[in-house]
Amino acid sequence: MAGNGALDARDRGAMLGRLAAERFDVLVIGGGITGAGAALDAASRGLRVALVESRDLASGTSSRSSKLIHGGLRYLEQFDFKLVYEALRERDLLVSKLAPHLVKPVSFMYPLYKKVVERPYVGAGLVLYDSMEGTRRPVPRHKHMTARSALKRAPALSPDRLAGAMLYYDAQVDDARHTLTVARTAAAHSAVVATRVSATGLVRSPAGRVTGAQVRDEETGRELTVAAEAVVICAGVWTDLVHELAGVKAGYRVRMSKGVHIVVPRAAVDASTGMIVRTEKSVLFFIPWGDHWIVGTTDTDWSGDRAEPAPSAEDVEYILAAANRVLARPLTRADVIGVYAGLRPLVDPAESNGKSTTKLSREHVVDVPVPGLASIAGGKFTTYRLMARDVVDAAVADFGRLGREVPGSVTDRVPLLGADGLAAVQPAAGRLAEDYDVTQAAVQHLLGRYGALAEDVLRLVRTDSGLGRPLAEGHPYLRAEVAYAVTHESALHVEDVLMRRTRLFIEAADGGAGAAADVAAIMGRLLGWSRRRRAAEIRRYLDLLETERVVPAAAAAVPALAAGVPVAGALAAAG
Ligand SMILES: Cc1cc2nc3c(=O)[nH]c(=O)nc-3n(C[C@H](O)[C@H](O)[C@H](O)COP(=O)(O)OP(=O)(O)OC[C@H]3O[C@@H](n4cnc5c(N)ncnc54)[C@H](O)[C@@H]3O)c2cc1C
Repeated sequence: MAGNGALDARDRGAMLGRLAAERFDVLVIGGGITGAGAALDAASRGLRVALVESRDLASGTSSRSSKLIHGGLRYLEQFDFKLVYEALRERDLLVSKLAPHLVKPVSFMYPLYKKVVERPYVGAGLVLYDSMEGTRRPVPRHKHMTARSALKRAPALSPDRLAGAMLYYDAQVDDARHTLTVARTAAAHSAVVATRVSATGLVRSPAGRVTGAQVRDEETGRELTVAAEAVVICAGVWTDLVHELAGVKAGYRVRMSKGVHIVVPRAAVDASTGMIVRTEKSVLFFIPWGDHWIVGTTDTDWSGDRAEPAPSAEDVEYILAAANRVLARPLTRADVIGVYAGLRPLVDPAESNGKSTTKLSREHVVDVPVPGLASIAGGKFTTYRLMARDVVDAAVADFGRLGREVPGSVTDRVPLLGADGLAAVQPAAGRLAEDYDVTQAAVQHLLGRYGALAEDVLRLVRTDSGLGRPLAEGHPYLRAEVAYAVTHESALHVEDVLMRRTRLFIEAADGGAGAAADVAAIMGRLLGWSRRRRAAEIRRYLDLLETERVVPAAAAAVPALAAGVPVAGALAAAG
């Protein structure tokens, strides 16, 4: 029976106890979208499942993407028809059935500059794109536009050389929230989901079969052994490292390609649609994101730290230059309020011959290097459900030896938490606002993030009315969301809340530095943090901001810190 999948950070001890004591059918290593998807796939087939994630859910690539659920128009040019076809089917399933509260249609304008050559070419691509959709059609078909109507829709475009445009539809998602919701849905089907727990080695039977993993609790250093019939590696750009620690040689390697996005205020680009423009090597997206635009991305080889890919000043300059080729009013560094980098886990088969990362296929690869171990890499966020199905199929393929018949994947019929009942909750927005004394806008914000579970967040306001207040001036997040992140969403550190449960890290000009003390206070009350621990959490977050952002200096945003008063001053200011 499915529960509400609460991942209560206060129950961590009990959860670690289960990890050590139980015998699982499938142990998943990695809590990005692929690992969360694999945990859900296996749990919803009736299997006993555990998932371990070294840091936080979605802390790797799965919180750092372009946040599009799309077929990938540009893959048509690479004749990757299968990938586009599958991705479009997944997009439609997510928008219409599995996660309508999280995955929303979005329009993109494709400006045309060479009328005679470009319109038939792009038009044909879009006819193909639309024809690959399923029968549900939850997003409209593409349209042709004149230059005049394009400028009406996007006055920000420079009229120079503009010959017309095409308008087409895809979908978008908060990638970190989607990953968390998939993991919670797995937990609702009895999976044990453990964050800040790293796999450090694999356990083998005398015959060489993998029978579990050694893991380390990163919070306490405690070592445990997790017993499982099969282990699944979903470690994204860490895959080669996990293969190494497991002492196995897989049939592929993972190449890392860094992609950077900048975040600018909505007012900086006057347009009522997303936009996609061609660059020399690839494409540049302008993606509407609440009161902001996300603009990107880049595609360069990366060999540095996997955990903290740092955007460089050149990355930002490249994006600004590419954007300014089509804009009437150029964007400058002063417009940039946020920046983030992610690493694409690209499968590098032996025959790729050092191809540029832009040209490597985004299709996924599954490997079973030794009995009892399956690993997967590559793919896209959009196709996570298919990746999860394929790697779980590989992991359970020999369960027949145990006399067990494992059913096929059912996740195309398993709506994510918050999807069921959405139709009945949406019309109740006015009542909820009245009952909990919050604004209608706050309720709409919660519906778009928690779906039918929005009232669970609001109930916290009853216990402490202060939690009904906004977390940061000018941003929609409520303080109740911080408490809920601890009690239902496994948040253990300030960074988990500011970077992934909310997105203040990319949306606030100070990267969320100004809210860090309040977040530490709310989390600290629930998790029993001492004053010293709260101070350490804030310091850790500010240090992280310095590493992962090139703009602006985070400390300057907290007056107490800028004035040299150490974190205690910020704590006092926060009460
Ligand atoms: C810039 C950029 C833009 C993108 N845009 C899009 C897009 O718009 N649409 C789309 O469909 N796709 C997009 N993608 C691709 C998509 O984001 C990735 O394919 C996807 O997020 C990869 O998820 P993952 O779970 O495989 O990897 P990750 O999210 O990186 O997860 C791997 C996890 O494994 C954990 N881990 C590693 N080692 C261990 C260990 N020893 N023990 C326990 N845990 C471990 C890591 O901490 C990490 O959380 C984009 C990618 C990038 C970089």
